[in-house]
Amino acid sequence: MKILVTGGAGYIGSHTIVDLLQNGFEVVSADNFYNAHPAVFDGIEAITGVRVKNYDINLADREPTLAMFAAEKFAGAIHFAALKLVGESVERPLDYYRNNTNSLLNVMEGLQRQGSSNLVFSSSCSVYGNADELPVTEGTPRKEAESPYALTKQVGEDIITDFCKAVPAFQAVVLRYFNPAGAHASGKIGEDPSNPATSLVPVITQTAAGKREKMTVFGTDYNTRDGSCVRDYIHVEDLAHAHTLALQYLMAGKAPENPALFNLGIGEGLTVLEAIHAFEKVSGVSLNYALGPRRPGDVVAVYADRSKATRELGWKPERGVEEIMDSAWKWQQTLE
Ligand code: UDP
Repeated sequence: MKILVTGGAGYIGSHTIVDLLQNGFEVVSADNFYNAHPAVFDGIEAITGVRVKNYDINLADREPTLAMFAAEKFAGAIHFAALKLVGESVERPLDYYRNNTNSLLNVMEGLQRQGSSNLVFSSSCSVYGNADELPVTEGTPRKEAESPYALTKQVGEDIITDFCKAVPAFQAVVLRYFNPAGAHASGKIGEDPSNPATSLVPVITQTAAGKREKMTVFGTDYNTRDGSCVRDYIHVEDLAHAHTLALQYLMAGKAPENPALFNLGIGEGLTVLEAIHAFEKVSGVSLNYALGPRRPGDVVAVYADRSKATRELGWKPERGVEEIMDSAWKWQQTLE
């Protein structure tokens, strides 16, 4: 069973490749290292013993993408490759619309041309915008996108929905990630964030490692337990395994809806201050943090109802905030 993983050198892509290999799938990656390093494949090899073949192509370019599909026969594809920084998307919307949309179209066309199906698409809880209810379920209406990045995920979901309507034999799953965090327990792969990092867990570990002098808690006057924002942090290894389950689900051909949507979060909210304290407890390092003003564009709280993924896919996250902080800290210490 040969599976295409686009963005295979990326953070979630690399962990998913490990999980797929450990569950008997063959993997081919397509990644142009726009925001990743080729050394990731050394890490994957160190864990699994498998050297993964990678196509160094821009998936937004139709010709090389279709050439890859002419050269390889895939039983399915997991499409991670995308630009993903919310702030950058506000500054460079055309790049985001062009890249994220064209790459999806090309991957879908490639699969269709070879008579393949079984697409798993990386979406995001950002498609919910400022949701009216918490926790959000897959049926919670999507609200206006808060950024061009979020709009590319909404549009991606809609393109897949239209295509599945037109070609019902084309089966797809849409996975909506909450806040992926942590690293592989081996310490061989993890998140190599853009500089400077903006996501909470890399900011925490970089501060602890002395890579930044201090960090700021963005907002302490929200209507939450301690005034800081609430998010649903999901360990990247648990998230990775959900992709294996999603492929197996597609291949079993029993999905009652097409595309099938799933929230992937742990199902519990954690405040920023709780996350900081969890890190301090696990690492024994005292963090230099300041309480600061709100960050523009932040929603107050978002966390998942994940019961559908548990019911339909059999997905049960096994790791909590301690494993997230412990593995992220171990990984940070391997970075120079
Ligand atoms: N956050 C923070 N300080 C930082 C980075 C993030 O207080 O240096 C907060 C941020 O305001 C949000 C939460 O941590 O409430 C998660 O932010 P992140 O950027 O990791 O993910 P998002 O939920 O925005 O996708």
